[in-house]
Amino acid sequence: GGVVCGEVPRPCRVMLLLNPQSGRGQAQILYTTHIQRMLTEAAVPHTLFITDRQNHARELVREADLSQWDALVILSGDGLLFEVVNGLMEREDWEEAIQTPLGILPGGSGNALAASINYYSGSPYVYGEELLVSCGFLLARGLLSPLDLVSLHLASGRRVFSFLSLAWGFVADVDIESERYRQVGTIRFMVGTAVRLAGLRVYQGRLAFLPISETEEKPPEQTSTSPSSPTSSLCSSMSCGTTADTSPNHSPLHPDSTVQSNTLPSPCHPVSVKGTANHKGPPDSLLVPLDQSVPADWTVVKEQDFVLVLAIYQSHLAEDLQAAPQARAQDGAIHLYYVLEGISRPALLQLLLAMERGTHMTCGCPYLVYHRVRALRLEPLSPQGVITVDGEQVEYGPVQAQVHGGLARLITG
Ligand code: ADP
Ligand code: MG
Repeated sequence: GGVVCGEVPRPCRVMLLLNPQSGRGQAQILYTTHIQRMLTEAAVPHTLFITDRQNHARELVREADLSQWDALVILSGDGLLFEVVNGLMEREDWEEAIQTPLGILPGGSGNALAASINYYSGSPYVYGEELLVSCGFLLARGLLSPLDLVSLHLASGRRVFSFLSLAWGFVADVDIESERYRQVGTIRFMVGTAVRLAGLRVYQGRLAFLPISETEEKPPEQTSTSPSSPTSSLCSSMSCGTTADTSPNHSPLHPDSTVQSNTLPSPCHPVSVKGTANHKGPPDSLLVPLDQSVPADWTVVKEQDFVLVLAIYQSHLAEDLQAAPQARAQDGAIHLYYVLEGISRPALLQLLLAMERGTHMTCGCPYLVYHRVRALRLEPLSPQGVITVDGEQVEYGPVQAQVHGGLARLITG
């Protein structure tokens, strides 16, 4: 279950974008063996567009006459939807364009949003082609939910919109380094994890965030989500065999007690989007320019040595990784996790294995910290490194972000 904000019209004219290179290069076969018949039987007329290079989908939706389409659906990994979202946000009519219903059919090696949608719908856990079939049914049902987008400002001043994650350190390195094992499909992340664990690194940087206080009014677009408690899966299982850490600093239910308030920074100093003329979108009222220190109501993390920083806004980081089981597409929150330097390899491995079932917060690991936040800033101090947004590598350097609740619409069945 989740918040439903409408349905796609019938018949629904779908622009279906397919990346033939995604995953093991099987998206076209998946289309003919599963999707074509399913959409035809469900009376969903669609036009297939096969991308022939990176950014092709982005350009197509930037130029498209959107009055001709009731939904934009991708058959690929998360990377192609990232292009579609940003193509829509680069349009003059972005405000209307980004309301075009978006759908995703998992055909890549990183299918985090598809896995999240399947999970939100209450459908049983499946992966691979079964996940594709499940997402096909949800798509045919055509129920719409609001989708939060996170606005990100990169070192160059470039602004991008993200629906899934911002990662630095271990997770980002695995994602990019595992590209070379693309031929093995989804398990490329497992292979990459083993390699990176063997050569575990520490990443220096500064991290700050604007927490969501537990007493804070829920934003207007947020109503109660699924019938099951969002934290139930955190509490129901203790798969790591250790007791949960109840110290206030490491519990998801007790955000940093030093936080005083959540008032907005002075509206006279919103972050400048000058010089990024191709980037439209709503103003980021919570951010100040990167060369100024963060507003006084932000929390600055005192530690500067990290193994990973992961800001995620969907439940799944991959088909088999529930990084934030409490997350919903429209919860108005960035779920910020970080792991501090000092964690042993076995302890990190235990966390990653627990993440398969979303039970990592019950491991009682003192190096893992979690906060629900509205905005964050990350300033890497190490001279080189990898930052990913929705699994795609972006320029390395300081980055800051704020969530915009329900900016887009997602077909969630
Ligand atoms: P995967 O999950 O397998 O990584 P993605 O959908 O994330 O699949 O796509 C991976 C990358 O391929 C993205 O950066 C996307 O922009 C790019 N891409 C899209 N179409 C093509 C194409 N025809 N050839 C090569 N790369 C492409
Ligand atoms: Mg990808």
